[in-house]
Amino acid sequence: MLKIDTHTHIIPKKLPNWAEKFGYGDFIYLQHHKKGFAKMMRGNQFFREIKENAWNPNLRIEEYAKFNTQVQVVCTIPVMFSYWAKPLDCLDVSKFLNDHIADLVEKYPKNYVGLGTVPMQDTELAINELERCKKIGLLGIQIGSNINDLNLNEERFFPIFEACEKLSMAVLVHPWNMMGMKSMQRYWLPWLVGMPAETSRAICSMIFGGIFEKLPSLRVNFAHAGGSFLGTIGRIEHGFLCRPDLVAIDNPVNPRNYLGKFWVDCITHDPLMLEYVLKLQGSKHITLGSDYPFPLGDLEIGRFIEEMTIDPSVKEDIFCNAPLNWLGITKERFT
Ligand SMILES: [Zn+2]
Repeated sequence: MLKIDTHTHIIPKKLPNWAEKFGYGDFIYLQHHKKGFAKMMRGNQFFREIKENAWNPNLRIEEYAKFNTQVQVVCTIPVMFSYWAKPLDCLDVSKFLNDHIADLVEKYPKNYVGLGTVPMQDTELAINELERCKKIGLLGIQIGSNINDLNLNEERFFPIFEACEKLSMAVLVHPWNMMGMKSMQRYWLPWLVGMPAETSRAICSMIFGGIFEKLPSLRVNFAHAGGSFLGTIGRIEHGFLCRPDLVAIDNPVNPRNYLGKFWVDCITHDPLMLEYVLKLQGSKHITLGSDYPFPLGDLEIGRFIEEMTIDPSVKEDIFCNAPLNWLGITKERFT
C-alpha cells in the first residue's frame, strides 16, 4: 500500500548567516558540533539538537523504508517561519528554504512532496511567494497557528487563503509561538499543553471567522489531530449555542458542521483517541502524519494504526487516499 506521511520537517544542512546579512535578529543558524548532529542556535541561545535525518534525504528514505513508507511531505521547522522579521528579510529566508525543498522534490519525485513557507506578516509578499511556490513545484504551504499573536481570522490573512484556494495550494496549519510560553517553562508544557491549545485556537479562529464558509474549496490540514479542538468540540458547540452574542458574530454556522470539511493528521499516539477522531472526522479527512524526525512525533510512522483492528479500507484512506485528496494529486505521481 502506498503510504504518504503528510507531516514531516526538513532543514538544509547549511544555512546562511542571516543575522549578519540583515544586521539584526535571532535568526536560526546551525552549528555542526559533531558528526551526524547539529545544534540549532537562536541568536546565542541553544534551541534544540537535531540529527542528520533532519537534513539528509537519503538517510530519511532509508529510515522510512523500515516502516514501509515511501512518501514524505516535507516542510520547514516552524521556528524558521521568521514572521517576526522585517517582511523582505523573511521573504529572503522563505525563498532559501522553499528553493531547498523544491530542489529535493525535483531530485526525488517519488519520495518527497514539498510545502513552502511564506512571509505571512505581509499579505502581498506572502501571495507573491505563494505563487512562486506553485511555479517551482510545491503543492502547498505550512503556516503558523498564529502570526505574531494575530489569529488566522484577521482580515489581512484572508487574501492569502483566497489565493491558496484559487491556486489549489494545500495548507498545513502547525502550532508554534505557543500561548503561555513564558509562564510554563517547566515540564515541557509549551509542547504538551500549549501546542494542542494553539491548534484549537487556529481551527476556532478559522471557523468562527467564516474562512471555511467563504472558501469551501480551501484544503486545510491541522497538525496533531487538530490539537485539543476535537476533544473539546462539545464545549465549543455549546458555547456557540448558549452565547451566540459572543461566538456567532462573524459566522452563523454551528462549528460542528465543519467536522470532515478540513483534514487533521493522525498524530494522537493513542488508538482509542484515533477511533474518536475517526468518528468525528471520517477516514477521508484524517491523514497519516508523524512529525518526523522529532522525538515527540510518531517515529514508527503510523504503526499503531496498522496494528488496530479497523477496516483495511479505513487504513488505506488514512495512509493514502486522504493525503492525496488534501494535496490535490493522484497516486500515479508516485508509481
Ligand atoms: Zn511538526
